[in-house]
This record gives sequence, C-alpha cells and structure tokens, in this order.
Amino acid sequence: MTDESSLHAPAVSLTALTKSYGHGKPVLKGIDLTIQRGEFFTMLGPSGSGKTTTLRLIGGFELPDSGEVFLSGAKVTSLPPYRRDVNTMFQDYALFPHMSLQDNVAYGMKIRGVDKAERTERATKALAMVHLEAVRDRRPSQLSGGQRQRVALARALVNEPSLILLDEPLGALDLKLRREMQVELKKIQKQTGITFVYVTHDQEEALSMSDRIAVFSEGVIEQIGTPEELYERPASGFVARFIGSSNILNESGGEILLRPEDIRLETQDYAL
Ligand code: ADP
Repeated sequence: MTDESSLHAPAVSLTALTKSYGHGKPVLKGIDLTIQRGEFFTMLGPSGSGKTTTLRLIGGFELPDSGEVFLSGAKVTSLPPYRRDVNTMFQDYALFPHMSLQDNVAYGMKIRGVDKAERTERATKALAMVHLEAVRDRRPSQLSGGQRQRVALARALVNEPSLILLDEPLGALDLKLRREMQVELKKIQKQTGITFVYVTHDQEEALSMSDRIAVFSEGVIEQIGTPEELYERPASGFVARFIGSSNILNESGGEILLRPEDIRLETQDYAL
C-alpha cells in the first residue's frame, strides 16, 4: 500500500475478529468495525462484553483466533505492539516513581535513541498540552490522581502517534475530576486530530465525548452510531436500556435522565 492510499484508509478496520482465552468460551464472536481517521470512537458495554479484548487486539497485545486487524490500511494482525503506530493510556498509569514528570514522558524516546534536545523539546510540548509544564521536575508521588492521569496522557501524546487507545482511563478519578478530564481529553483529541479509541462502561461518558459509539454485548457489537442515533434509534432493547433511552421507548412516563444534547461536551465552548 502506498503512502497516498494509506492517508485515505480508515484508521482502524477490524474484520470478523474472534477470540477465546484458555477456558475456550469465545469472548469475541465476530467483530467488524471501521474507525475513521480523527474520530473519537468509543467502545461501550457492560463489564465482560469484550471491549478491552478488542482494544488489546488493535494494540497488538493479543492475537485473534481468526479475523484481521488493519491500521491505516495495512494488515497488522500479527505484528507486535512496537511495530504499530499506536500509543496507550490506561487507568493504571504505571509511572516510574523515581523519575521526574519530564523524564517519565521522555523515557520511551530515550530507549528508542532520540537525542536529548529533541526529547526535551517534545516532552515539554506534551506536558504543556496537559498543563503540567510548571511542575515537570516533580515526582509522581507529589501529584494528585488527576495530574498523574495527565502525565499518562502526555506520555501517550509525546510521539504524536496516529492512534491512541484508552482503556477506562478516568475510572479511578472522582466524579468532578472525571468530568474535567473528559473535557480536556476531548479538547486535546480535537486539537491534535489523533484518532482516539476509548473503552468505557459508563454511558454518560460515552455519550458526552464520542463522535461514534459501538455498543458491545457478550462478544458482539449490537449497534454502531453517533450518540444521537443510538439514543433516538436504538437497534435493540439492550441498546435502549444501556444507553438510557428505554424510559422513552416504553412510554412508561418515567423520568428522562439523559439526552446526548444535554451532556455533549462542546469543545468550541472552551478556549483552545
Ligand atoms: P470488558 O472490557 O468488556 O470488560 P474483556 O474484554 O476484558 O471485557 O473480557 C471479556 C471476557 O474475557 C470476560 O469474560 C473476561 O473474564 C475474559 N478475559 C479477559 N481477559 C482474559 C484473560 N487474560 N484470560 C482469560 N479470560 C480473560
């Protein structure tokens, strides 16, 4: 595939992925998914529905039993993570406690042999994006949970990858901080144009941040659509219940808890 055609290829394309772990029970039963470049794409579903496994297949941390993974049009199904243009941000941010923030962010470049001046420049820029440049000489133990999560984000951004995989990255934060970080993540995603693939079981988080959402249930995707599409035209009772629109569908007269337009994060409201 030429560079020209890879520019127009989807960021991620998954075809008929299946996966089972040692116990033999399939945890993915045929996942087909296309994610466009620059999308904020969320995989939403209850615990155990196969979201993290799908993310790990995209990152190359697991191999599928069958099916293929394409990144920017290139087949990468059996390539290891370091051969994919992908970075990750997980809830367990795994920072090195004895290193400054700056060194934590620059570490990956150091082991790849990037020279010191460039490491410093890129780490400084990434820390500035997450508003931590003023405290870059501190150690992780001197930071709040939200700040540590920002360092993890800076570390994911520092190589300017085309794709960042985020697995419940805000799960450990309290509600207020979570909300702040949702705004920040969304803003940075739009600013950089990096494709984000985000895993959560929290429908409010998914509805507020995503361009599109895939709703997972027991190893299959029930529906893919924009927050509005899922909310207004859920393809099944499961999606309606999970998205929170079942109270409208069943005309029970119940309270309407959430609508995407009520909670959507509008990045243009925030100065970039
Ligand atoms: P989700 O992210 O939606 O919570 P996962 O992809 O983590 O779902 O898990 C899907 C299923 O696969 C669950 O039943 C889980 O117990 C099982 N599973 C996940 N990882 C492993 C593993 N390393 N070994 C065995 N079973 C696993």
